[in-house]
Amino acid sequence: MQRVKSDAAFSRACGLIPGGVNSPARAFGAVGGRPVFIERADGAYLFDVDGNRYVDYIGSWGPMILGHRHPAVIAALEAALARGTSYGAPTEAESELAELIVDIVPSVEKVRLVNSGTEATMSAIRLARGYTGRDRIVKFAGDYHGHVDSLLVAAGSSAATLGVPNSPGVTAGTTRDTIVLAYNDVACLTDAMSTHGDEIAAVIVEPVAGNMGCVPASGEFLAALRDITRQHSALLIFDEVMSGFRVALGGAQHRFGVTPDLTTLGKIIGGGLPVGAYGGRTEIMDHVLPAGKVFQAGTLSGNPLAVAAGIATLEQLRGDEQVYKRLESLAARLADGLVEQAERHNVPARVQRVGSMLTLFFHEGAVTDWDSAAACDTDRFAAFFRGMLDRGVYLPCSQFEALFVSLAHSEADIDATIAAAGEVLGELS
Ligand SMILES: *Cc1c(COP(=O)(O)O)cnc(C)c1O
Repeated sequence: MQRVKSDAAFSRACGLIPGGVNSPARAFGAVGGRPVFIERADGAYLFDVDGNRYVDYIGSWGPMILGHRHPAVIAALEAALARGTSYGAPTEAESELAELIVDIVPSVEKVRLVNSGTEATMSAIRLARGYTGRDRIVKFAGDYHGHVDSLLVAAGSSAATLGVPNSPGVTAGTTRDTIVLAYNDVACLTDAMSTHGDEIAAVIVEPVAGNMGCVPASGEFLAALRDITRQHSALLIFDEVMSGFRVALGGAQHRFGVTPDLTTLGKIIGGGLPVGAYGGRTEIMDHVLPAGKVFQAGTLSGNPLAVAAGIATLEQLRGDEQVYKRLESLAARLADGLVEQAERHNVPARVQRVGSMLTLFFHEGAVTDWDSAAACDTDRFAAFFRGMLDRGVYLPCSQFEALFVSLAHSEADIDATIAAAGEVLGELS
C-alpha cells in the first residue's frame, strides 16, 4: 500500500506541530512507521490522502458510534450552521442535550456541558473537593482521565505507551493529593480507604477501562467502590467519557446497575464535535457557579454546532431499541472471529469485550489491571497493527487502547477484517 502523500504530509507537520500530531495517540510511536493522514471519512471507512480506504475501528477514539457522516448528524449540523456558530449566551438546544443526558444516564439529575473529556474530569474533581471540603482523590493505575495534572499519574494509553506515566511539568505538589491504587483490587481499595477515607474527596474510576485496552471492572470491585466510598462519605465518580452511550445506552452504570455520585461524559455526546459533560445529583451539582461557589466556566461551552451534533447522535441511539443489540452482535462476531484466528495460528492472545468496545491482547491470561496489561507482547501487537493497516484495516495504534465497532460496520466489513487478521496472525506465528 502506497502512502507517499501521507509521508510528505507528516514531514511537513513535524516541522510545525510537536511530533507532527495534535494528540500523541495519533502518532505511531508504539507501533513504528509514520501516521496515515486522513482526507475524509464515510460510514465505516477512512480514506487517506493517497486514496487508500480503511475499515475504521477507532471511530475518532470513540465518538463515531453511528459511523461517519451519519445523515441525521450532518442535517442537524447544517441547520445549526445556518443560525451561526457561537453566541456566548444560552440556547434552548443546551437544555435539550442536558435533558437527553438526564433522561438516559441513571445518576445524572443536573449536568454542565464543557468542551472535552479532560475538562469534564478536571471539573468533577474540583466539584468533589469543593463539595466535600476534602483534598485527596483516589485513581487507579491504567485508568486515563484526560490530561488533568492531578490525574496524570500512572495513566493509561498514550501516557503509558510513551512510558511517561508521570509527565514532566506535573508538580509533586499537584500529585501529592492523588492516591493511585491497583484496578480491580478490592483489598487494596479497602485498605487505602480505611487509612485515608476521611481525607478522600472522591474516587474516580473508568467502570469499563478502555485506556489500558478493554478491561472491565469486576462486579465485586464495582460493588466495593460504591459501598466503601459511601461508608467514608467520599464521592464516587464514574468516568464514562468512553463507556457512556457505548457499553449500553445509559453507560456502564446502566449496564451494571451501580449508581455513582458524579459522572463524566464526552466522546459520543458530541457526535464527533468537541463536547464533554459532568453531572450528578442536584444537591451536588448546585455547588457549581453560579448556583454555588465552585468555579468552572468556558467561552465555547455548549457550542451550538457541538450541541446539535450531540443531540442528533443521542436521539439516534435512543430512538431504536435494536441499536445496542446490533452493536453487541457485530462486536461479538468480530471478537469470536479474532479468537478463532489466533487459535488457528497458535498465537497466544485473548479478546476482552464489553458491548462494542474490545481489545485483542497478545497475552495468555486475563488482563485485569495495569500490571497484566503491561505484560502483553507489544512487539507482536505492533507487527499485527502494521499488517492490518496494510490490508486496509485501521486499528488503534497501541495495545493499550480499545477498538470500537459502529452501526455503520456491516457483517461483510467484520468478516473481511477477520480474514485479514487470519493472514496477519499466520505470518506472526
Ligand atoms: C478520552 C477520555 C478522556 C479524555 O477526553 P478528551 O476529550 O480527550 O479530553 C477522559 N476519560 C476517559 C475515560 C477517556 O476515554
